[in-house]
Amino acid sequence: MAYDYDLFVIGAGSGGVRASRIAATHGARVGICEDYRVGGTCVIRGCVPKKLLVYGSKFTHEFEDAEAFGWTVPAPSLSWPTLRDNVNREVDRLNAVYLRLLDGAGVKLHMGRGRLMDRHTIQVGEQTVTADKILIATGGHPVIPSIPGCELAITSNEAFHLPELPKRIAIVGAGYIAVEFAGIFNGLGVHVDLVLRRDRVLRGFDEECRTFVHDALKESGVKLRTEMEIGRIVKKGENGPYEIHTPLGGMFETDLVMYATGRAPNTKGIGLEKVGIQLDKVGAIAVDEWSKTTAENIWAVGDVTDRINLTPVAIMEGHCFADTEFGKKPRKPDHRGVPSAVFCQPEMANVGLTEEEAKRTLGDLRIFTAAFRPMKYTLSGRQQRTFMKLIVEVATDKVVGAHMVGDDAAELIQGLAVAIKAGATKAHFDATVGIHPTAGEEFVTMRTARADTTPTRAAAE
Ligand code: NDP
Repeated sequence: MAYDYDLFVIGAGSGGVRASRIAATHGARVGICEDYRVGGTCVIRGCVPKKLLVYGSKFTHEFEDAEAFGWTVPAPSLSWPTLRDNVNREVDRLNAVYLRLLDGAGVKLHMGRGRLMDRHTIQVGEQTVTADKILIATGGHPVIPSIPGCELAITSNEAFHLPELPKRIAIVGAGYIAVEFAGIFNGLGVHVDLVLRRDRVLRGFDEECRTFVHDALKESGVKLRTEMEIGRIVKKGENGPYEIHTPLGGMFETDLVMYATGRAPNTKGIGLEKVGIQLDKVGAIAVDEWSKTTAENIWAVGDVTDRINLTPVAIMEGHCFADTEFGKKPRKPDHRGVPSAVFCQPEMANVGLTEEEAKRTLGDLRIFTAAFRPMKYTLSGRQQRTFMKLIVEVATDKVVGAHMVGDDAAELIQGLAVAIKAGATKAHFDATVGIHPTAGEEFVTMRTARADTTPTRAAAE
């Protein structure tokens, strides 16, 4: 049977756009649909505008530090509308770039929500299209726990469009988004209450790094309300303030409430049940190592599959799918050794295993750490420190984990990720000459393993 397309992609975010473009360059006839804006979460309301806001918020520190370097800075003031509008203008520009990329690759864009009617038919708005193969790349959405008053809270989606900055904000959650926005709002001069249900931020990351970030947040002026549950949110008056009530009778007041309590895959209303696509136990689309779903001709990539929910991973998955199915170059996405960063302030980045994972899964380890005040702050007196950690497997001498909390951690770890992916040993690190004076040179000059991890001679042999 002749279909309208060789491939139809539902969702024009990072994974969907990459897959469609690559499939088209391999000669496939490709259509894609999108019900909001081409570019997806990362470009439109995630990584890109977030990082620009991080840059914007860091000027506070620069102004403060400038004096020690001889500068006289008049009392700085912030125009939130200027920052917000400039960020959104950049988002518009990137959106246009994405549209041009699709067009240039010959991918036909259908604006509207895609819904599977059967295994080869997709309805987009009033239109119906057919395709031999289908890729689902619908991403995810923020979830807010259902408590009285939860409808009063915003999510990161709305944070980019605030008409004005609040004086105070309560951010609920302790993951990537919560700590990143805590740093942003704090830097922009907003009083931040970070409300978390456990004792520390960033569960799942290396424990020492978590503690380091947690303490740095506190040091920066963010009020950490640990081990706190929220029972209800009450609005007082037309435009707030809001009262945040705990189940045990506690209460504090704020001017805006933002939830960052995780994201869920976008699987509803797209007809998955009609084509026999099964979900896994967390409600994401179940896929095999080729990103194939339980329906023979349908694949899924990105956050909707809840593997590693990062843009570059979705791009890798989409690219591998397109090369495999349309480019005669079969290759599976490799989810090992994926580096990541949290753009809190100071930022945190890592690649490979945490100390806790390494202890659970490997034999003897040597662990190297360094904590120091960055050179820049020796002059300005800023109480911000940098932390670095290398985890080495004794049996192979391989560096199995690298972690950093500090300025430019993401830039540094990106470079180390190449070495670690290539199987670099501690001996390779030791043989590498540092660049002086940098923070990064610490990674190649760590000579003494932490005493508790240095294995005995017998164990090392
Ligand atoms: P995360 O999964 O990172 O964190 C969710 C946080 O919410 C956790 O601290 C969790 O606490 C807390 N939480 C969950 N349910 C509740 C609840 N009912 N009450 C109170 N707290 C709750 O989600 P995010 O929303 O921060 O980010 C979503 C995903 O987006 C990330 O996993 C990441 O993959 C991606 N992302 C990546 C970024 C980057 O690469 N820099 C930036 C932003 C997002 P607990 O630990 O107790 O479970």
